[in-house]
Amino acid sequence: MTSQERAEHVVRPPLIELAGVEKSYRTGKLEYRALRGVDLSITRGEMVAVVGPSGSGKSTILNMITGIDRPTAGTVTFDGTRLDQLSEEELAVWRGANVGIVFQFFQLLPTLSALENAALPLDFLRRGSKHERFERARHNLEVVGLADKVENLPTELSGGEQQRVAIARSLAADPGLIVGDEPTGNLDTVTAAEMFRLLERLNDEGKTILFVTHDRELAARARRVVEIRDGRVVGD
Ligand code: ADP
Ligand code: MG
Repeated sequence: MTSQERAEHVVRPPLIELAGVEKSYRTGKLEYRALRGVDLSITRGEMVAVVGPSGSGKSTILNMITGIDRPTAGTVTFDGTRLDQLSEEELAVWRGANVGIVFQFFQLLPTLSALENAALPLDFLRRGSKHERFERARHNLEVVGLADKVENLPTELSGGEQQRVAIARSLAADPGLIVGDEPTGNLDTVTAAEMFRLLERLNDEGKTILFVTHDRELAARARRVVEIRDGRVVGD
């Protein structure tokens, strides 16, 4: 680390900060404590893998960070904004501008082409003209290596290609943070490794990347690994 980088580390506040985060789910009379006091700080530009057994709270942590769900106790701060204090509407607008999300099962709309899927978040945000949205989506499909498949429907794409479309879609609003919940979980090892390299490249270009994985090999290659067990961070 150079002295300049060290100085930046000292003055730079975290992009994401979870402090004392607890999350309980109530099902009937039963209460389940999915998160039991999570403190986690992520700096802009980091690439972080989240690992842990099934049911340990990984997806719940991501949901706290994307504002899809709210903590029962504790605070979630993103770039100085207290997410736990925003209204649902404010959260939706915040998320649209700041976070791209990639899922295990891609979640593309089956009747839309790759290009239309990649443009969807911009349609939602009503950003730019129709032409500008498609140009932006086309650019992002080039970034993920799918320039020749823009007209294909999801059924006309392989699993890896569908996940590339999902990554292009996550880039639509040019968010600073890309979050993936097992983004390689439904891909073969070779394709999963390709997807990991794509995420690494986006990280090199300045995106903060946070992803859950079961793949020990991929996790080992991430620049930082956070281990979750029984709703707590047990390794970092
Ligand atoms: P992971 O992603 O690590 O597999 P999750 O974060 O999805 O685990 O879930 C953590 C725990 O919280 C699990 O025991 C799960 O059953 C429970 N849980 C998650 N979401 C809900 C919910 N909406 N209602 C009730 N329990 C939930
Ligand atoms: Mg999960």
